[in-house]
Amino acid sequence: MIRIGLAPIGQIPEALVALLAAQIREKLKTNDVAVEIHAALILPEKTTPAFVLSRLSHLLNKDQQKYLIGLVDADISESEDDFIYNRDDVNRRMGAVALTRLRPEFYKLPANDAVFQARVLKLILREIALLLGLGLCQDKKCLMYHARNLHEIDIKYPSFCLDCWPRLNTAISKK
Ligand SMILES: [Zn+2]
Repeated sequence: MIRIGLAPIGQIPEALVALLAAQIREKLKTNDVAVEIHAALILPEKTTPAFVLSRLSHLLNKDQQKYLIGLVDADISESEDDFIYNRDDVNRRMGAVALTRLRPEFYKLPANDAVFQARVLKLILREIALLLGLGLCQDKKCLMYHARNLHEIDIKYPSFCLDCWPRLNTAISKK
């Protein structure tokens, strides 16, 4: 059994977190996965990856062996040219997904909740798999492909390829 904790950092709509938790359960359809939602953590003063991950570390509980995914509605990039959508600390079983740059309206495009939510879900599932030890995949349609921009995130299927899916299930069953 693995336990995944979804932790809002700052103001994230509860309905969005609940929807994502349900989608994670559905996508990782196996009895060995439990998804829990944590109470919101306070947004750190600075939203660089180090600060965001250190906020998550408040939830670390070694006994539970939980995998933590933080959701932060901020830009966690450290420079204009080097924007990032997610960051992880595999050793501490923590990852964070930044929502701000996943919204079409960030780029002055019409808002589109379906597009936004699909991007967030894909990044969360990839983070979970990375924390479980899966490597990157060369298949552009697979969640484990290293997408470098939103287009590459959008063209992925919201699922693991036929190589990565068994690997993920093996990783879960070994925990
Ligand atoms: Zn794959």
